[in-house]
Amino acid sequence: MFPWGGERRFNAYSHYCRTHFGGRIQKLPVDAGFSCPNRVSRTQGGCTYCANNAFTPSYLTENDDVTTQLENGKRFFEKRYPSNNGYFAYFQAYTNTLAPLSVLRDKIESSLHVSNIKGIIISTRPDCLPDDVLDYLSELNTHTHLTIELGVESFHNETLTHIHRGHTVECTFESFEKLHSRNIPTGAHLIFGLPNETPTQWLSDVQLLNLLHPQFVKFHQLQIFKNTAMQSEYHDHPERFHPLSADDYVQFLCDYLERLSPEIVIERFSAEVPPRYLAVSQWNLLRHDALVRKVEEELLKRESWQGCRDAINRVSTEPTTANY
Ligand code: SF4
Repeated sequence: MFPWGGERRFNAYSHYCRTHFGGRIQKLPVDAGFSCPNRVSRTQGGCTYCANNAFTPSYLTENDDVTTQLENGKRFFEKRYPSNNGYFAYFQAYTNTLAPLSVLRDKIESSLHVSNIKGIIISTRPDCLPDDVLDYLSELNTHTHLTIELGVESFHNETLTHIHRGHTVECTFESFEKLHSRNIPTGAHLIFGLPNETPTQWLSDVQLLNLLHPQFVKFHQLQIFKNTAMQSEYHDHPERFHPLSADDYVQFLCDYLERLSPEIVIERFSAEVPPRYLAVSQWNLLRHDALVRKVEEELLKRESWQGCRDAINRVSTEPTTANY
């Protein structure tokens, strides 16, 4: 038994769902028709890697209302996972706090009228949490299982500027602090592989993630999508990128996990999209489940586990140098 009470060597989201809901909970992505300030007005066309359509499930139609999307999602996943214990409404597409409060309230709360919805996950940007929205989220948090998922992506301002994220690392920390001061559960989304970053930097950055201390985290390897500014950059300046092989990514993840606070629940280790969206293919299409198995095998081989290096909330004095 590990510090989080589970048998697996990392603090898995599946364990969290079993503990809190008695079994598997499926997320149902929703496109509530919101936009993104970064695409519309701020920087040149949004984040250089942005390809939201790559993450849109086949059953999801933007023009359907939230209730219809959720019912369609339930029908889709009922067949795949008949033993589901319920669903989370996952407001995933674009920036889901970017609308007048009355519109947000209507769209978000309509999901709670759908049967077997056990909670809501709202994905947004760190710079899109004004006070009236935070007050509303505090209220919402009192009567449903709520998570606010923020795109952190990188802990380096040079990188955030380079990829046109349109916010800073300081803004990220401020937003998490505002949410935590209201006891609103948080999730962080991070990308490994952004231009001009190295695995040694990512390993050092785990200390910043421990300080940020989200309840949940999703890790994604950088994927380069067709028809994006990043595809052009990759073509013109491949030297700026540090793609890892699948085996090296497994080694990296294990090194990272050993330094990660055991309290942070891990939702994903990698992203998976239909190959037709990718400009650069990866890992011979190794699926997420297979990657997780390799991570668990490696942790077992090392006899290590998440947080075994006691990295919780303090900066390690041990040098972190990646060998890949
Ligand atoms: S914040 Fe998200 S939706 Fe907006 S430009 Fe960046 S990746 Fe695209």
